[in-house]
Amino acid sequence: MLSHYDAVVVGAGPAGSVAARKLAQHGLNVLLIEKRQEIGVPVRCAEAIGDEPTRPYIDIDPRWINATITRYAICNSAGDHVNVPPAGLTYVVDRKVFDWELAHLASKAGAHIRTRTSATNLIRENGQVTGVRITSMGKEYAIQCRLVIAADGTESQVARWGGLNTVPPMADFYVGFQYLLGGIRVDPTRCEYHVGTALAPGGYAWVFPKGDDTANVGLVISANHAAEVSAQTYLDRFVARLFPKANILGAVAGGIPATGALKKMVADGLMVVGDAAHQADPLTAGGINLGMIGADMAAQAAEKAFDAGDLSAQALSEYEKLWRDRFGVQHRALYQIRKIIASMDDALFGKLIRTAAQLPLQDMGLGEILLAVLRHHPQLLLESRKLITTGLVIMK
Ligand SMILES: Cc1cc2nc3c(=O)[nH]c(=O)nc-3n(C[C@H](O)[C@H](O)[C@H](O)COP(=O)(O)OP(=O)(O)OC[C@H]3O[C@@H](n4cnc5c(N)ncnc54)[C@H](O)[C@@H]3O)c2cc1C
Repeated sequence: MLSHYDAVVVGAGPAGSVAARKLAQHGLNVLLIEKRQEIGVPVRCAEAIGDEPTRPYIDIDPRWINATITRYAICNSAGDHVNVPPAGLTYVVDRKVFDWELAHLASKAGAHIRTRTSATNLIRENGQVTGVRITSMGKEYAIQCRLVIAADGTESQVARWGGLNTVPPMADFYVGFQYLLGGIRVDPTRCEYHVGTALAPGGYAWVFPKGDDTANVGLVISANHAAEVSAQTYLDRFVARLFPKANILGAVAGGIPATGALKKMVADGLMVVGDAAHQADPLTAGGINLGMIGADMAAQAAEKAFDAGDLSAQALSEYEKLWRDRFGVQHRALYQIRKIIASMDDALFGKLIRTAAQLPLQDMGLGEILLAVLRHHPQLLLESRKLITTGLVIMK
């Protein structure tokens, strides 16, 4: 490990590995640090990725695909369901291998990588970030650099040390719990989403097949419900109802901000990417693909900033613009949809599912589906004008 780098990337999840690789490919001297012993473990994820948004970053190897998904089902606890065609091909992958392969690509591009190495603070001079304090294999170091990329996930501290406010409101923070279940029969080509106030208040449950009679079965609830009943308790009830004879082969807990991306994702000498920047989808909380895209955008802006010799927040803010232009409107709409679904009672949600099940969904976009559902349930117009705006935005 050197004492000086052009850039230090903190966190070797998908976002950090993509950022490190892109910067190294630009000829910059990059250090990627990961506090865990081994990249990719433990897996805290349902492991679903999109085919199309993944391809720019890694060749999808059939050996690490556990299931190929061609259908989604939205279900309620009364047993109603509607099959929705996915926006694109989806895979459930072995995330441990996926994360490792992404880091390997960063290594091949020339980035230095160190595991069991934690960032413990930033070094700042006159407000400008000029380095990172780290503990690596039990020893402390002060590494100088011109840019730090915070890719340290949901619990990001690096962004906070840099003066950015990353604390989401309780209602916009998903608390999750998941089991890898074995000995169960599920459709190997279908991901299920289960919605209901008693089932997962403010969130939803999922069943994502992993092949060979296994599945990731988990749920997220809004954090402001978690104090009364834990996410694990809700999941135990769900599993007891759907898979009473299942074996539990693994259990993970985790949180995800579902706010939409932070408004401020840069400071002088600092950029924040992936979950640390709240880039996960504000409806589903899927963040693997979005984190990689965010990291790519950050790297594009950083490369220009290095070329111009200006790593100020002003110069780096082109990254925020790239993100806003591509996802700003769409993510605000998805955020509204989540709020509306969370405020619906189960009876109305059941009616919506039954209405949607009658529609030719394979020929319709999400916006058209929303508008068709509204035609059948005009009372929703009174409840939320935002729903119509959202439908129109998504149709564009
Ligand atoms: C239960 C659950 C299920 C999910 N399912 C899906 C899904 O199916 N599909 C999907 O797209 N998304 C899913 N997500 C979200 C997805 O896991 C994240 O959006 C994604 O991992 C974000 O990638 P990232 O690189 O930003 O952060 P992470 O993958 O969290 O990586 C951050 C890394 O930074 C490291 N780190 C943290 N602090 C430090 C430090 N101080 N020094 C050094 N290293 C540090 C961490 O150890 C970690 O390895 C799920 C999340 C949960 C909790």
